[in-house]
Amino acid sequence: MDNSELTPLMRQYAEVKASYRETIVFFRVGDFYEMFFQDAEEASSLLSIALTSRDKNSANPVPLCGVPHHAASSYISKLLKSGKTVALCEQVEDPKLAKGLVRREVVRVYTPGTLFDENLLDAKESNFLASIAELPTHNEGIVRYGMAAVDLSTGQYVLAEFCGMHAQDDLLDELIRTGPQEFILPSSTTHVSQKLLGAITTLKIPCVRAEGQNSSKLDQAEDIFLKQFQVTSIQELGLDPSMASLKAGAMVLDYVYQTQPLLQHKHIQRPEIRHSMREIHVDAMTLRNLEILTPLSPEQKNATLLSVLDQTVTPGGARLLRQWLVRPLMELQAINDRLHAVGEITKEFQLRLEIRQTLKGVSDLERISGRIAMETGTPRDLLNLMDTLHLIPHIRNLLASLQSPLLKELLQGWENFADIVDFIKKAIAPNAYISTKEGGFIQEGYNQEVDELRRITKDGSRWITNLEQQERARTGIDSLKIKYNQVFGYYFEVTKVNLPRVPEHFVRKQTLANAERFTTEELRNIEDQITGANLKLKNLENELFQMIRQTVGKETIRLQGLARRLNILDVIVNFSEISAKHRYCFPELHEGGGIHIKEGRHPVIEQLLLPDSFIANDTLLDLEDNRLLLITGPNMAGKSTFLRQTGLIVLLAHIGCFVPASEAKIGLVDRIFTRVGASDNLAGGQSTFMVEMAETARILDASTSKSLILLDEIGRGTSTYDGLSLAWSIAEYIQDRGMLGARTLFATHYHEMTDLENYRSGIKNYTISVKEVKDKIVFLRKIVPGKADRSYGIHVAHLAGIPQSIIRRAEEVLQQLEQSDVAQPDLFQNQLEQDRSLPAPHPIIEEMKQMDLFTMTPLEALNRLASLQRRLDSE
Ligand code: ADP
Repeated sequence: MDNSELTPLMRQYAEVKASYRETIVFFRVGDFYEMFFQDAEEASSLLSIALTSRDKNSANPVPLCGVPHHAASSYISKLLKSGKTVALCEQVEDPKLAKGLVRREVVRVYTPGTLFDENLLDAKESNFLASIAELPTHNEGIVRYGMAAVDLSTGQYVLAEFCGMHAQDDLLDELIRTGPQEFILPSSTTHVSQKLLGAITTLKIPCVRAEGQNSSKLDQAEDIFLKQFQVTSIQELGLDPSMASLKAGAMVLDYVYQTQPLLQHKHIQRPEIRHSMREIHVDAMTLRNLEILTPLSPEQKNATLLSVLDQTVTPGGARLLRQWLVRPLMELQAINDRLHAVGEITKEFQLRLEIRQTLKGVSDLERISGRIAMETGTPRDLLNLMDTLHLIPHIRNLLASLQSPLLKELLQGWENFADIVDFIKKAIAPNAYISTKEGGFIQEGYNQEVDELRRITKDGSRWITNLEQQERARTGIDSLKIKYNQVFGYYFEVTKVNLPRVPEHFVRKQTLANAERFTTEELRNIEDQITGANLKLKNLENELFQMIRQTVGKETIRLQGLARRLNILDVIVNFSEISAKHRYCFPELHEGGGIHIKEGRHPVIEQLLLPDSFIANDTLLDLEDNRLLLITGPNMAGKSTFLRQTGLIVLLAHIGCFVPASEAKIGLVDRIFTRVGASDNLAGGQSTFMVEMAETARILDASTSKSLILLDEIGRGTSTYDGLSLAWSIAEYIQDRGMLGARTLFATHYHEMTDLENYRSGIKNYTISVKEVKDKIVFLRKIVPGKADRSYGIHVAHLAGIPQSIIRRAEEVLQQLEQSDVAQPDLFQNQLEQDRSLPAPHPIIEEMKQMDLFTMTPLEALNRLASLQRRLDSE
């Protein structure tokens, strides 16, 4: 619509909207937030509210819908859940004082990654806004990547750097582990490859374009850091100018400033820099396959490691647990510190109970102190903070006798926060309302003027009662009453029958059907005093509250430090609780190669089965004769379960948690790789088999001899001989110390592969035992040395209810097939021995390895192939 046709209000709206095209604008008009044009059409349908129009009689009525301002939050929440963002445009001057049109400004943009409101957030999950950046390095073709994430609600701020061959994959894994609620796509002026952006789009995180951001500002990323953290050089923050994450870090901060222009952001903490050398890299595949945070099938919500392990009692503890689960430690000392702390508290039943009971009274300290620092906290927030701080000396006493280094470290410098408790106690009334609008939240005795004004308003109501009695006596009207309403204030109400008795000094205010309303000079005087005092009181209370909040806000760093300690304590006590409840044992970690687990259990499946019905199994892996365990057995026997339980036990040990086993000695690992079952990525345009091979390729490429590899049913997605050949050669490669030699569990239904044990050192056959009863099989779930002599596929089909006639026919076909020729293992072995005697890999082969087939078009691939062929010919 042409702007000149619009009313002044609509013109003002159009100006605001021009800067927020992608966002629904809540435009404050009186007591309502109104939406216009397309916003109104979209929002009315998403919110199920009426769509009407403004200036109905004009030629071009403007579509309109609105929500009452006091209920905005629930509507905003609904729009956010539908993937929208909302810009709140407020009246920024008093309409009574405004000359002409009231000035309006966008005071906040609600976006999923910048929320801090209690009612819009999941207490147990962090709420990250993330971005990435890419920097070319001096080595041609090698790129450096940076990631940054900020949780505005807690102030947690993270930077991570990635360089080298696997940088891009590692960056994507980091993003998945961080699990941001919103992602800023770098602006087109920033250098980030389309390939990377394409990969990020498949992660299905809500994305915003950073086009609106001032890219020249981002060129001075360092300045943003200096200003935010009040330092004179970024080195003081442990950063250096060559880091790619500086740009990403500046981008998320800048986005926060833009969307929350009125807020203080001082609570954003100095960046935590992620060190890949200190943590086991849990990749997206392992995260998914071990069902650490999310289940493979969405309907089984409780089938995750997190759900079994989370008995934390504070929201901050729950959030930290989540972060620990995806960041197992690599350093023995750090792991043992956690384990010893868990061990000590596990032994102290009564103490554990008391600590947990006390921690239950702890509010969400990180988010409360965040809100206070941002100057959005309510009086209730301050009271909750006070109640929490009140518990701190008691928690300290509970921990005083504990000896393990981590717990002692937690106690070091533990303050009692009496100063803040006293301050809030003196300043805020114990029954303070959540909303600052109602008043009444400043504690008696805190401020003389408040007390005086309160006395006046209290006296005022006594004066009113006195005046009422006085006039009743004077006029002789028994039913005479002084009433109050918002529009007319105080008035005498006289019924029609009593009107003749109304005295001269009563001045008429309003006539109703069967009564009249009057005022008197005396009543007006009292009213003026009361309303004047009320107004003053309200303003004064709000002013004082802001000062009180600012004073507490100055203690943010102390409060964040306390929150960190309490979160760690909650997670450690949680581990003890789980360990005691589910009979977990203290894992002994060491620098050697052996992974010896006695009577290990799958932590999640054992909880889903009837008590004591999970069959425990041992794992014996090492870097010598038991490097690769080849596990055969029919489908449904329990192979995957065994693989995953070993992976989960090793992971839990590296997190510093006890493990579901009767004994565990675990040699440190640098990574855990898990390829379990067939997982489709058809939406991503890749077939199951392609995904399987790509994931396997990545495992083979990125693992080291210190890694733990869990491979389940490799080669299943193609024809039998193809699959068997691949599975065979992959097993040989991994087993070969010259190639990889990593500790591996390899489950397969190709029972032919068990012959490998005879040719190769370090490979051991295991099978999950089954008992054959007549023509049926019974799963015993026990892993034993040895091999399955066949696949039992037909038996399983029988169990599953396939018609008898098909089963009989399948048996006939199988017999025929078995009589015909099958693959000869020798062939495979000879092949591999030949390969190994080759000299150093040919440069063309190296080049082919580097090619990224996923991003090439068939034509590009063909051209590359032709050029390689030409080069080979010319050699
Ligand atoms: P496979 O990989 O051999 O096909 P799974 O590991 O998927 O078999 O196991 C199939 C089912 O058997 C699991 O879902 C679980 O219910 C049960 N199961 C597996 N291992 C055990 C065990 N050790 N004790 C009890 N039940 C088990």
